[in-house]
Amino acid sequence: MKLPATHAELIAAGWRPRSRRHCRLCNATIEFWKTLAGKIEPLELTLLEAKPVYVSHWETCPRAGEFKRPEKKKAPDPESGKLFG
Ligand SMILES: [Zn+2]
Repeated sequence: MKLPATHAELIAAGWRPRSRRHCRLCNATIEFWKTLAGKIEPLELTLLEAKPVYVSHWETCPRAGEFKRPEKKKAPDPESGKLFG
């Protein structure tokens, strides 16, 4: 499915809306859609030439680069408290 697309085009392409929530990075309202291939895509409703269309939030999120990073907390370095190795 090529984006942007209208709601009707997404439905016709076999995509199904799943849930709506706020992006935890930029707080935009995003809708999660399940694609025909079973993938979940975060879409954002926007206006294109006064027509409501969906675009991929990957492309519009100002902080999209942070999505794909695994949420790994840095473990404290066990050596950092030692003066001598
Ligand atoms: Zn975002």
